[in-house]
Amino acid sequence: MVILQDYNLTELTQYLTDNYNVKPYVAKQIFEWLNKSVDFEGMTNVAKSVRSELKNNCIAVASRIVKTLTSTDGTQKFLFELYDGNVVEGVLMKYKYGNTLCVSSQVGCRMGCKFCASTLDGLVRNLSAGEILSQVLSVNALSTDKERYVTNIVLMGSGEPLDNFDNVVKFLHLVTDKDGINISERNISLSTCGVVPKMKQLADMGFSLNLTLSLHNADNDERLKIMPITKAYSVEEAISACRYYFEKTGRRVIIEYTLIDGQNDTRAHALKLASLIHGMSAHVNVISLNPVKETGLKGTSETNLKKFLKILESLNISATRRRTMGQDIEGACGQLRRRYLDDKV
Ligand code: SAH
Repeated sequence: MVILQDYNLTELTQYLTDNYNVKPYVAKQIFEWLNKSVDFEGMTNVAKSVRSELKNNCIAVASRIVKTLTSTDGTQKFLFELYDGNVVEGVLMKYKYGNTLCVSSQVGCRMGCKFCASTLDGLVRNLSAGEILSQVLSVNALSTDKERYVTNIVLMGSGEPLDNFDNVVKFLHLVTDKDGINISERNISLSTCGVVPKMKQLADMGFSLNLTLSLHNADNDERLKIMPITKAYSVEEAISACRYYFEKTGRRVIIEYTLIDGQNDTRAHALKLASLIHGMSAHVNVISLNPVKETGLKGTSETNLKKFLKILESLNISATRRRTMGQDIEGACGQLRRRYLDDKV
C-alpha cells in the first residue's frame, strides 16, 4: 500500500499523474484534503471513480485517533492506529504560547532504556514519514479554528528518532514544507538517547531544530546500567556530539535528566553532571521519573529534586524543572499503548 501522506505536493502530483492519470489541480485538491486528515470518503470535490481506484491501492489518512484521554491539567493523550493495526501514542500539551504535540517515530523501540515503557517489547517497526506527519495532521483536525492548532512538535514519543533517521528527516521536510502545514524548524525538538554518528549527521544537514540529549547519568558505568546505548557511545562522545551540534546550528542543546530514586539523584551525581557540561551552551531539564509498573523504578522525591536543581544552579548551570504534565493519564512514553494492548488480550 502506498501512503499518500508520505509525499510532498510535487511528489504526490507526479505519483497521481503517472499512475492514475489524475490532473495536477486534482492532485493539489487531494493534497489539501490529506493535510486536513480527510479520508477518501470526504474528498467531495474529487470524482468518485478516482477515489475508489485510489482507495484500492493507497492509504489516505495514515494514523487515526482511536482513543483520547484528557488530564485534569488539560493535557491530552492520543492513541493513533496505523493502517496495519499497530498503535502509537502522542501527547498534546497546552501552553500559553501554543500547543506542543509529542509524536512517536517507531512502534516500540530497541534502545532498551530500563525505565521506559516503550522499549519493554522491543522494536516492532519504523514509522514512515507520513505516519509521523499524520499524527500532527489528525490532531490539527480536531480543532475547528482557522489558526494552527499544533504549533510545536517534539519527537519524544515512542521510538528513537535517530534509529529511523531517513524517515524522520523526510518527516522534518514534510512538516516544515511551505505547501504543507509549514511549522517552523525552531518549533521542533528531536530527542535522542545519544546515537552519536546520527547526531552529527543531523547537525551537518543544516536544520534549525532543537536537539535534546536524554542523559540521565553523567557516569558511564552507571549510565550503562540504565541505558544500553552507553556501550556503543560514551557520555563524553554524546556530549561532544552536542557541542558539535551547537557549533553547526547555533542551537542550544537541551540535556534531559530524569531523576530516579536512589539511582542518579545524589549530590555527587549533580556535581558530575555539572562538570561534564561545564562551559557548554546547554540547558538541563530535570524531571522526576514517571513510574512504570513493569520497571520497579521510582521517581525521586520532591525535596531531592529541588536539592538537585539548587546544586546545578549554584554551579551556574542553566537548569529548570520540566513541568510534569498528564500524570493522571499515564503521560510517560509507551504507557498507554501497553495498557491498550493488555486490555485487548
Ligand atoms: N528515544 C528518544 C525519545 C523518546 S523518550 C530519547 O531517548 O530521547 C523521550 C524522553 O522521555 C527521554 O528523555 C526518555 O528518557 C524519557 N522517559 C522515558 N520513560 C520515562 C519515564 N517513565 N519517566 C520520565 N521520563 C521518561
